Amino acid sequence: MYRRTFPALLFCFATISFAQAPAALMQDSAVRAALDAAKRNEPATLELQVKVCEIPAPPFKEEVRGKELKSLFEELALKDVRIDKAGNVIGVRPGRAAHPNLVFSAHLDTVFPEGTDVKVKRDGAILRAPGIGDDCRGLAVMLAVIRALNEAHVETPGTITFVADVGEEGLGDLRGMKSLFYDSLKGQIDKFISVDGTGLGITHIGVGSNRYRVTFKGPGGHSFGAFGMANPIQAMGRAIAKIDAFEVPATPKTTFNVGRVGGGTSVNAIPFEAWMEVDMRSSDPASLKAVDTKFNNAVKEAVEEENHRWNNRGPVSVSAELVGVRPAGQTPKDSPIVQTAMSVSKALGIPEALREGSTDSNVPMNMGIPAITISGGGNATNAHSLNEAFDPQDSWRGTQRAILLAVALAR
Ligand SMILES: [Zn+2]
Repeated sequence: MYRRTFPALLFCFATISFAQAPAALMQDSAVRAALDAAKRNEPATLELQVKVCEIPAPPFKEEVRGKELKSLFEELALKDVRIDKAGNVIGVRPGRAAHPNLVFSAHLDTVFPEGTDVKVKRDGAILRAPGIGDDCRGLAVMLAVIRALNEAHVETPGTITFVADVGEEGLGDLRGMKSLFYDSLKGQIDKFISVDGTGLGITHIGVGSNRYRVTFKGPGGHSFGAFGMANPIQAMGRAIAKIDAFEVPATPKTTFNVGRVGGGTSVNAIPFEAWMEVDMRSSDPASLKAVDTKFNNAVKEAVEEENHRWNNRGPVSVSAELVGVRPAGQTPKDSPIVQTAMSVSKALGIPEALREGSTDSNVPMNMGIPAITISGGGNATNAHSLNEAFDPQDSWRGTQRAILLAVALAR
């Protein structure tokens, strides 16, 4: 009995201290000064958001924006400022101890190709440009956090490592985070926050995805003359019909989609090739693995059936290439980091908004490292489109929340 109640009591005290810490921290004069600095500096933060956004950062081509972040990190007196092999820009704000080491990040890359006009247009207070919210807001908030902590001389018990990372979007496939956690800061990260996008949400569930490009091949031939031969497009049709019939769990939400198809050369030719692109997602690693296994079996069976149907004449072969893996994971709602984030929001009068999404936090969540993604305040519309716009009304609240959270977690 005693053995059972003792840990429960400990847990109870722990929960209370997580919940109280941010409100208590706000009584600290240095922390108070940092929060005031955030509000006072917000116009400069918005100017930095514009400046960073006007440096193009197409997928896989983040170097120029990365170099700018490197010099901004140096100007802000971060230590050990460097760019890792993947292109992540890393800078350290040492605490009284090396650990806990909190990584605080925002992503450099956009979804926009080279040549996109990224000049920011001002429409009253509204800022319009591709990437102005996602993730120039995150980068600006990260810089504002460093500046406010410096101006207010906030000393943290643990260390904060700031990272402007590459490869968050699309086929970037979280390569910046994978490099950070598996290589450049391997084993050195205790907690993780990324600031991504706008609003005041907290993402604690990381939706993972597996993406495939599947290619079906056969000898092909004349539709009349070579009739009786297995057909790559028809084999793919069988595979798609099987995929379409998958039963997947509603919770945790698990999905599949055949998003693109192609192949064939002519209406009167048995094609020699067909291809499809397939995306599967879930926040639960086991459910994602299960649907992935079903998918691979369906493709294999479809080809066997097609070849059997045509007695192996001109047999079809298939290869499924994994073109994207975003690992799934989640940080439980009752974990210290989520509880701290919720009490930080509460202390600042920000309503609770827990979300799921696919962000840089997926990588640490999948490894069991406490991680969340917060949004950076203000309000953007049309993210990932050329019409992206950012409304800075009360955006300082996002900056303040990021500061208080960083201070609360760097201990
Ligand atoms: Zn983003």
